[in-house]
Amino acid sequence: MLERSSSFETLVAELNKLPGIGRKSAERLAYHIIKMPKDEALRLSSSIKAVKEKIFFCSLCFNLTEHDPCSICSDPSRKKDRILVVEDPMDIAAFERSGVYHGIYHALQGRIIPLKGITPDRLRIKELLDRIEKGGIREVILATNPDVEGEATALYISKQLASFDLEVTRIGLGVPMGGSLEFSDSVTLGKALEGRKKFS
Ligand SMILES: [Zn+2]
Repeated sequence: MLERSSSFETLVAELNKLPGIGRKSAERLAYHIIKMPKDEALRLSSSIKAVKEKIFFCSLCFNLTEHDPCSICSDPSRKKDRILVVEDPMDIAAFERSGVYHGIYHALQGRIIPLKGITPDRLRIKELLDRIEKGGIREVILATNPDVEGEATALYISKQLASFDLEVTRIGLGVPMGGSLEFSDSVTLGKALEGRKKFS
């Protein structure tokens, strides 16, 4: 049994702040880090430092990027007339892995959860409307997660888009209700995209 030191406790406390990591898991991870070869542990620490210094949000789509605009927004082969609206950059990564979508994206950076104080103005909805106002968009595909909050967010955005001359669609069946886009496979995402329906 390792003697409890303050540096150990600090590491546990920091790991404990990560999502899904309880006190027990944090301790297990901390022990693991202590047992790691020093260069491996330092690589972990410097990779955390590097992402915090180098990665930021694309000023157009709010995807994670090291260059602004991101590689998707600046790719001339992308269809720029359709925007796939997702909750988080992790969802963009899921669609990119699947290879089923060739348009551009917009990450809202969350979804509307009034009980947690996440109101529409806390999300990147205004930025989405600004992009659409500039013109050139023919379709907005709402790909928030298929659960109560995701549906409510999609509905809210569709109302904001009502005055624009464009098609608003919602991804179809495939991703089960309550499921998460981030963890869906490419066949499921492809079907969801193909099966999108007019949203009103
Ligand atoms: Zn971008």
